[in-house]
Parts: sequence; structure tokens; C-alpha cells
Amino acid sequence: MTTEDTHTTRTDQLTLVNPVTRYPSISPPEQEQPEPGLDAELAPKADLGEFSYRGTGRLVGRKALVTGGDSGIGAAVAIAFAREGADVAITYLPEEEEDAQNVARIITESGVRAVTLPGDLTDAAFCAEVVERTVGELGGLDILVNNAGKQIYRESLDDLPDEQLEETFRTNILAMFRLTRAAVEHLPPGAAIINTTSIQAYQPAPILLDYASTKAAINNFTKGLAQQLAPKGIRVNAVAPGPIWTPLQPSGGQPTDALPEFGQSTPLGRAGQPTELAPAYVFLASPESSFVLGETLNVNGGQPTP
Ligand code: NAD
Ligand code: MG
Repeated sequence: MTTEDTHTTRTDQLTLVNPVTRYPSISPPEQEQPEPGLDAELAPKADLGEFSYRGTGRLVGRKALVTGGDSGIGAAVAIAFAREGADVAITYLPEEEEDAQNVARIITESGVRAVTLPGDLTDAAFCAEVVERTVGELGGLDILVNNAGKQIYRESLDDLPDEQLEETFRTNILAMFRLTRAAVEHLPPGAAIINTTSIQAYQPAPILLDYASTKAAINNFTKGLAQQLAPKGIRVNAVAPGPIWTPLQPSGGQPTDALPEFGQSTPLGRAGQPTELAPAYVFLASPESSFVLGETLNVNGGQPTP
């Protein structure tokens, strides 16, 4: 392990560890990236599970689409799905090609197929297109992970431009409706939809009003849609991360001077790493969760939720 790797681990997710010390309580240096940030530029590096996630055959032969699968939580989920035996398509913005190629390489090295789909999910036509291309290239679709998201902090409502307000809603919730609508006709009984929400859905930060509102909407959408699709045998659930070290944070997600303390106020005393989210998505994607629908699984270091 090189010094660059000090925040990644080679201990797999099934080995008994103390969650307090599984990862160091990081104090990221103040840093800024243009939106969307890159994992390649993040300091310290985030752990996507590339050296540690050990598959146990839970998604063999499945075909998955993960939006925002180039970096952060989406990348960790895409890597875990691949290690579990699924072919994986990822979407990302064209500026994120470097991160996307890295994840595609890790997926392919796991012995499954990777499909890379660059484009902007605020474009309704692109939402439909990514589903069609995934189905075309992988030969079907069993798992849709609606994970792409936009978070730009603003100190006050006066500082929140209309353009950002609408883009946040288009990216975080409208795209989720459109991707899901396009996907449903292809999803067989047994398929799963998993939406990424946030602790912000219940504990909105005063500087994230637009973002937090979309996350509350995602929880509600998840619970309603789960009931609508249950008779078809399609299960819909959500995962609500707490503070996770990803490029979202230093690319406008948090004030720069807040980064050194990022995540330290959780009961575990540290931020989470992206790969710590992956098992929640694997559980909700696999048939072992056959009676779990409309649920939000909180993965947040111990912060109480409703
Ligand atoms: P990330 O920056 O690694 O991932 C977000 C991804 O969203 C980007 O990689 C990008 O590809 C995609 N995206 C953004 N705008 C897009 C657009 N217009 N079109 C297409 N793709 C677009 O950061 P992350 O933290 O891993 O975020 C993943 C999800 O997790 C988001 O929904 C975020 O809200 C949620 N989340 C993150 C945290 C955290 O602390 N990091 C906490 C709670 C929830
Ligand atoms: Mg990214």
C-alpha cells in the first residue's frame, strides 16, 4: 500500500472490524474543484472498494444501470455489483471521463461487462436514451440505481439563483422520474430500483435548502412508487447516506473551510467512505431482500432518523 492509499483498505467487507477505526477520522485539507468534482483529484483518496470488496455471487448474470457511477458512492456501488457478478452500465457527465474509465476498467477486470454512457441527465431525452442503450448493449435491465446528484451550498435564499434551483431539481428528482419511467417496461419481475437519498431528507442543513428538498422528495417518491410497482414484482427502495467523502463535497457541496471537520460529528466520529455504502445497495438489489419495499436504509454513522 502506498501513502496515496492510506484511506483505502485491503480488508474485505466481511472481515470483523471495529467500525470506529475501520477508516481514519479524516481531516481533508481545504480544497476546491469545479463542479462536478473528480475522484482522481480528491485528497485524501476515497475508498471505492477497488482493493477490498469481495463478491459472493449475489448478483450473478444481472444487468445493472448506475447513474453517477463514475465516482463516489455510485462508483463503489458499480464496483460491488461487478464483483457480485453483474454487468454494469454507468452514466456520468462528459467532464468525468477520466473517473468513468477508471471504474469501467475495474468492472471489466472483475470479469463482467462495463458500458460507459456520458451525458447530462437534466436532458429528458438523455434519460430515456441511457435506458435504451443499456438494454441494447447488455441485453436487458434488472437493477436501476438512481444515484446521480447535484449539491451546491448557498448561505441564503437570496444567493440561490433560479438556474441552480431548477438544475438541482432536474438532476436529483426529475431525472429519477424519467429514468424510472423509461426503465419500467424493461424490468422483469424480481428487478430492483434503488434511489440515493440523504440524511438531508430529515435533517436539512440551512445552507442546502434546494438539495435537501429534493432528497425529501426522493424518499416520498420511493415509498409511493414501491406500492405502484409491487404488483409487477419490481421492488423500489432507497439508501440514505450520511457524510461520505466524495468529490461532491469539495466541488461546491460544502464551504471549503468546513472540509477539515467533514463527518467528524457522527457517533462513529468520522466520515464514511463510499465502499461502506455498497453492501446496502447489494442487499436491496438482490433477492435476499424480497420482502423489503419502500424502505429507506440509512447508512450514516449512527445519526438518528425518523
Ligand atoms: P459524486 O460527485 O461522486 O457523484 C455524483 C454524480 O452525479 C457525479 O459523479 C455525476 O456523474 C452525477 N451528476 C451530477 N449532475 C449530473 C447531471 N446533470 N447529469 C448526469 N450526471 C450528473 O458524489 P456522491 O457523494 O457519491 O453522490 C452520489 C449521490 O449520493 C448523490 O445523489 C448525493 O446526493 C448522494 N449523497 C451523498 C452524500 C455525501 O456525503 N457524499 C450524502 C448523502 C447523499
Ligand atoms: Mg463524478
